[in-house]
Amino acid sequence: MKANLLEWIDNNRVLFGSMAKAIWDNPQIGFEETIASQLHRDAAAKAGFRISDVDGMPTAFVAECGSGKPVLGLLGEFDALAQMSQVVSGEPKPVKAGAPGHGCGHNLLGVASLTAAIALKEALDKGEIQGTLRYYACPAEEMLSGKVRMAEQGVFDDLDACLAWHPSSVNMPWAGSLLSLCSAEFSFKGLSAHAGAAPHMGRSALDAVELMDIGANFMREHVHESSRIHYIITKGGKQPNTVPDEASVWYNLRAPGSEGLLDNCRWLTEIARGAAMMTQTTLLPIDFKSGVYEVLSNQTLVSLIEQNMRYCGPPVYSEADHKLAAKITASMPPAAKQKGMDAGFIPHRLKDLYLHEDILSPTDEGKSQSASTDAGDVSQIAPFAQFGACTWPIGVNPHTWQATASAGSGIGTTGMLFAAKTLACSLYDLFSMPEVLDKAKVEFFEVTGGARYVSVMERVKGLDG
Ligand SMILES: [Zn+2]
Repeated sequence: MKANLLEWIDNNRVLFGSMAKAIWDNPQIGFEETIASQLHRDAAAKAGFRISDVDGMPTAFVAECGSGKPVLGLLGEFDALAQMSQVVSGEPKPVKAGAPGHGCGHNLLGVASLTAAIALKEALDKGEIQGTLRYYACPAEEMLSGKVRMAEQGVFDDLDACLAWHPSSVNMPWAGSLLSLCSAEFSFKGLSAHAGAAPHMGRSALDAVELMDIGANFMREHVHESSRIHYIITKGGKQPNTVPDEASVWYNLRAPGSEGLLDNCRWLTEIARGAAMMTQTTLLPIDFKSGVYEVLSNQTLVSLIEQNMRYCGPPVYSEADHKLAAKITASMPPAAKQKGMDAGFIPHRLKDLYLHEDILSPTDEGKSQSASTDAGDVSQIAPFAQFGACTWPIGVNPHTWQATASAGSGIGTTGMLFAAKTLACSLYDLFSMPEVLDKAKVEFFEVTGGARYVSVMERVKGLDG
């Protein structure tokens, strides 16, 4: 019974709340999340899951229980962000200056999914529901590569459906998408010379970077308006009196769909070649760092998630949570709060609230958040949907000190347990209502045409040369 799942999760609030706090207290960035990964692995093993490693990824694993069809998955993440250290407070104050912190709430993300998996295991063991349940411990989401590398190894291939969630400021299923992305560093080789005495003897690699950036900024007008182009210069010479013979620029390109993304990547590569030609420098082999697909949100699963959010009932926060939320909100000027709400498609009628103790129907169908996630790759392999749960005050955006502070507080724990309940109940329905799962699979096939998954990384490789 689904009611048992809710009771089990409520009874285990302290256990899983402390696990999320232990991860928050020991933030580690992508592929280095040994503490978080071990805590997840120990909890899954203790609960009796079968655990398998993922080749070449020590902090990734797959935990499985049950057997046979359907095969249903839950995604978990636990990596922190560089330089996001922050104490639980309404004012900006790092625990340790310059250290990592959980500014995206991934200390909650993985634990909620694991909590849901462990809660469901009893129902599977008793034969109340039948099939295989998997918890995927996915490292390095912030580097947009953990799930891509796992997907390339085929670990998601036999899934019938997969669910996830993300810390957020409102409780809402995500019917919309997130952008596909390609991240690549372009390096140029020139000729050094004395910049004062003999500039005519040199060829500046930095000139190539600058001309490439100018080209990219003119290209910007002619890409789809939802696309994003951002870059940093990672190498630009050491001192001005030497013509720099080495320079590099690192780009992230994002677009609503992978075909448009690849088109933009192709154009940017041509701009880089043009910049090299104009400056008589050489474009070195392009360093493609990561690439992810846009998210295909399965609307059948989105509806199922909404029904279960409502079945579980919205999270209710303590007095202390409300006080902290009021202080955090006071740190944001009204314009910042409004911009934060706009980024998450949050209706302005919620602007006077601190914490969302309600459930919103999706406001984003047909739209795309302008961030990206490697869960997009999973959504290309199996029917997939996710939702946001309120783990920080309305208007707070991820990757901010306010988000880190909230993710380490009771606000985070309460939102996390609501997420765990929603995931557990939604999967329970998928195990016990084959007609819903079939509908989700038909929709998935209509959208993808059953095309075989080839990663964006694999597809962009052909652009270099
Ligand atoms: Zn995140």
